[in-house]
Amino acid sequence: LLPPNPAKCLLMEEDELQEKEFFSWEGFSAFFDAWCERRKVLFFVKNSVPLSKCKWATAPPQPDVVEALKYSSVRLVCKDFRGSGKLDQGEQQKGCSANIVLKMSPKKDRLIVTECQLAHNHALCPIEFAYYFKKGYLMANSCLPVRTTNKISKQFVGGPDVRRLLSYCKSRDHGVLDVLTVLDGLFASDPGAKVKLVFMEDKVIVQTIFFLSSRMMALSRRFPLMLFFDRMVGLNEEFDLYSVLCVDGAWHGRAVAYCLTQQDTPDLLRFMLASLVQSVPEVKLQVRCVTLGMEIAHLEAVKELLPNARVQICRSQVLEMLFSKAQELGAAEDERIWPLLCRLAAAKSPAAYQQAVQEMKVILPQPFVRYFQRHWQPRSEMWVQFWAFETARDVNACELLKQHQRRLLAALSPSPTVAQCMLDLLAMEQWESGWGQAGCDGI
Ligand SMILES: [Zn+2]
Repeated sequence: LLPPNPAKCLLMEEDELQEKEFFSWEGFSAFFDAWCERRKVLFFVKNSVPLSKCKWATAPPQPDVVEALKYSSVRLVCKDFRGSGKLDQGEQQKGCSANIVLKMSPKKDRLIVTECQLAHNHALCPIEFAYYFKKGYLMANSCLPVRTTNKISKQFVGGPDVRRLLSYCKSRDHGVLDVLTVLDGLFASDPGAKVKLVFMEDKVIVQTIFFLSSRMMALSRRFPLMLFFDRMVGLNEEFDLYSVLCVDGAWHGRAVAYCLTQQDTPDLLRFMLASLVQSVPEVKLQVRCVTLGMEIAHLEAVKELLPNARVQICRSQVLEMLFSKAQELGAAEDERIWPLLCRLAAAKSPAAYQQAVQEMKVILPQPFVRYFQRHWQPRSEMWVQFWAFETARDVNACELLKQHQRRLLAALSPSPTVAQCMLDLLAMEQWESGWGQAGCDGI
């Protein structure tokens, strides 16, 4: 066997790429990811001309072609095109000239590799490749520059930031442009609104949007005592909606912050409370009680962010769950069980609670009692009425959250995009501020 001839291999590679055609940027992006992975080479976009910004003397390409191809030309260069900066026998390593040029075909229906020069002036290092390579980079980078989204992510953005992002935005990918347009409208009518945008790392895909209007901030300043944290699952196929509510003077739950986030984003409670406290710092010490649904995790975030607040778990949710858990763990059909669990949750003294626990040991099977002692006994202060925050004792948290969910369902378009959902929520908030005003006057 003869050793491989590097020069010949290189020519083969160039042959493989030269004149290769793609009917979409996505198609090229997928091909290029795999190609780079095989060869352990790192390229990035040096310059590009988006089709949406081209002027046409003759017939312009069809809108679906503009959407698919995205660019009329793109130059990709080796990561080391400026030189590696390493000194090589006292001399600076010269920049690498490996590059690839892609152009739209004269028929304006595909992208063609028109130039390709693949000789590198440095060794290719698999370790370096593994460190820097970002699959999907070309696809993600087609809307906004990743360095911009990485920089702005998780920070509060203002009207000027949004307008700057809009001016960079080259396409409608992933609904980012639509979201930015809604935010631009929000800041135009309410310059004091607070917004945090979180992008997925190294991708131009919105992961989370936290927002509250000036009116919502005013509500949280006026009614900071009790907050409710609610999650609406499956807003559309990708996103969940979280709300933080306060109770207004008419005992209605009113949103003081909203958060739209990709499903399964962890630790939203902490993110939302932290963002709320950053937006309205004076509530930090004023909140006395935060009531949450049962499925919310990382409750310790409440104490960390709102030091005077205690955590309460929605009592009727706990009750319903205990009842079905009892069936699951082998409780017999027994009409005493439901009233007993109700007495337990609604206990008005520690003695009444202890009494109900003793009865439980008689009526309910051992596995259930063990389950209860392990999971719910230690947290009894969070769900038994006696230990509830005084002002919250008369608030039916579950009903309040249900009413809010009903209003949301009525206000939201079916299966909305993130941008549409923001519009719906802002419209609902504006409408409610009308009847809320009457409620505020009542107290
Ligand atoms: Zn190179």
